Amino acid sequence: MGRTLQNTMINLGLQNASCFLDSMATLGLAAYGYGIRYEYGIFNQKIKNGWQVEEADDWLRHGNPWEKARPEYMLPVHFYGRVEESKEGAKWVDTQVVLAMPYDTPIPGYMNNTVNTMRLWSARAPNDFNLMDFNVGDYIQAVLDRNLAENISRVLYPNDNFFEGKELRLKQEYFVVAATLQDIMRRFKNSKKGSSGPVSFDSFPEKVAIQLNDTHPAMAIPELMRVFVDIEKLDWDTAWAITKRTFAYTNHTVLPEALERWPIGLLETLLPRHLQIIYRINQGHLDEISALFPEDMDRIRRMSLIEEDGGKRVNMAHLCIVGSHAVNGVAEIHSNIIKTDVFRDFSELEPEKFQNKTNGITPRRWLLLCNPGLAELIAEAIGEEYVKDLSQLQKLNELVDDDTFIRDVSKVKQDNKEKFSQYLEKEYMVEINPSSMFDVHVKRIHEYKRQLLNCLHIVTMYNRIRKNPKAPFVPRTVIIGGKAAPGYHMAKMIIKLITAVGEVVNKDPVVGSKLKVIYLENYRVSLAEKVIPATDLSEQISTAGTEASGTGNMKFMLNGALTIGTMDGANVEMAEEAGEENMFIFGMRVEDVAEMDVQGYDAMTYYQKIPELKQAIDQINSGFFCPKQPELFKDVTNMLFNHDRFKVFADYEDYITCQEKVNELYQNPREWTKMVIKNIAASGKFSSDRTITDYATEVWGVEPTDLKIPPPNEPREALDETARALREK
Ligand SMILES: *Cc1c(COP(=O)(O)O)cnc(C)c1O
Repeated sequence: MGRTLQNTMINLGLQNASCFLDSMATLGLAAYGYGIRYEYGIFNQKIKNGWQVEEADDWLRHGNPWEKARPEYMLPVHFYGRVEESKEGAKWVDTQVVLAMPYDTPIPGYMNNTVNTMRLWSARAPNDFNLMDFNVGDYIQAVLDRNLAENISRVLYPNDNFFEGKELRLKQEYFVVAATLQDIMRRFKNSKKGSSGPVSFDSFPEKVAIQLNDTHPAMAIPELMRVFVDIEKLDWDTAWAITKRTFAYTNHTVLPEALERWPIGLLETLLPRHLQIIYRINQGHLDEISALFPEDMDRIRRMSLIEEDGGKRVNMAHLCIVGSHAVNGVAEIHSNIIKTDVFRDFSELEPEKFQNKTNGITPRRWLLLCNPGLAELIAEAIGEEYVKDLSQLQKLNELVDDDTFIRDVSKVKQDNKEKFSQYLEKEYMVEINPSSMFDVHVKRIHEYKRQLLNCLHIVTMYNRIRKNPKAPFVPRTVIIGGKAAPGYHMAKMIIKLITAVGEVVNKDPVVGSKLKVIYLENYRVSLAEKVIPATDLSEQISTAGTEASGTGNMKFMLNGALTIGTMDGANVEMAEEAGEENMFIFGMRVEDVAEMDVQGYDAMTYYQKIPELKQAIDQINSGFFCPKQPELFKDVTNMLFNHDRFKVFADYEDYITCQEKVNELYQNPREWTKMVIKNIAASGKFSSDRTITDYATEVWGVEPTDLKIPPPNEPREALDETARALREK
């Protein structure tokens, strides 16, 4: 027991968070997931004439039976206004208020009589909104203007790994933080009821752990300081010590364009008191650094929370590091990059703060639910306990030479492929060869994820078939899918290029059933659940050092796909678990990329040296795949030649060679399936149960609670007893 009252996760839209909620409930941790109840989630993607078109995701149109509004817990959130200083301290006044309405969704654990709560906030205008002063007399306009306040929870920003400094987004980030901290504070004070005198916050960090899932909720740090200092009247140093012990921060990316850096001007207008608090935090922080490194002005500049060059901005990652007692990356390689590169100065200052928590996925959704055939087969082989202890999959190693098991695993995959083929044939009106290798590359479209490298492989295969139509060819169905951020031009061009290549390849009678290219429209969790169990080959081909962890890679491994991948993110640990010889690893390592950055990357030399690369690029560049608009892909080829930050050409040759090795193994179904079994057996580490257990013991200091809902067959009194115990906690 002890620190079991409330552990809080804050989140603004990472898909991965729902795995964590499932694991926290399954492990019996008393934890809440907080976020925004967006009226419109991530857009629905339509592919029209090969281009991405966005449509609004009106997910609440038919109602949502899983949620319950809790108006009794509604809370005010303040914006704008000014700071009044007096003897009693700072006061934030003349603010505009928006109400935060909580909606609760139950999160049941797996077969453990435990239910946690996910609480999502929806913005509501106060009933006197705009009727107070200047708008007196214009009642109709005032009611119409309620939309302005309620826009805060209207729509999820669809960027992936890209920071866009929009005021509405900052409002969203503060909205979830301010409502959530009030909720936490209410629960903390409730737990203290009965004790006399003013509430003591000394035990706050023992009762509350807040995990900042990326920097999106970073404003929680100055907000908690504001609550402690301005409202609860704690002195600054006491408040700061409690705050640091409460927060921990998970970093999710090292791409510089993704790091949140909010302009000072925006903060000054929207959250003037918080800006003051950030300045004061920074002052203490920089004082500490100058005491340790006197006269190292460059270090002080690098480590400041405030960036000065090109307009003053607050570096939110720096704020999170300084305001937390633990900082982690999401795979070993990523955590090392954080320590030695992006946040090197900070890890030199406080090395014990920096940790790793390798990501994971829930086996309940990503095996039991999406792949019942495989789940049952495994249960027959090793029992059902593996569902709650995925490391038990290791027992499958005893069956790698078992002919029956090999046959059964291969049969499940074939069934899944045939079922998915029917779906594809219905949705895409193409003929699918279910015995071809299903080569799948699904994830957000981004230059760093290198869908272009895959595309070059497709063009290369196509040219090889055309050059030598009679030569043996291992048939493939290449499936690529994912959403591009609506404002990301190059990502949208990549989608158009893939669909254009697909048009030519799929129609060419010389190719026939040897090669098909499908662009999977509107990739989302429900579609992932269909395609992943049907996959033979998982594409995880980001430039080494760019993918923090990846979780798609883990889903495929668990579902019996083999991986072709770079030594990046969690791929490195997958290779460690399964053995490098059981994955198709290719390309530059992080060290090679760093070396190339020193020497300089020259795309042209690869183009001139590798004839098949030259041929593919010449075709794309000359309009071979879009004769009606031969100039269409000039932006893409120009990028690849002149400013490709992700060095596609440098890994091309090794990638093609590696794909040939994939073909070789695929021609030996028995050996292929044996490798599949070894991969499934090695995938236990990537359960989010393991990830959450590591957070619970190494960051939060929490243990499972003994509070369980009694089984339904027990007498009513048992339930009342649990309810009473919960109220008293
Ligand atoms: C798992 C998942 C992702 C993450 O995939 P990565 O390959 O790790 O980028 C993205 N979208 C959906 C729908 C997913 O299920």
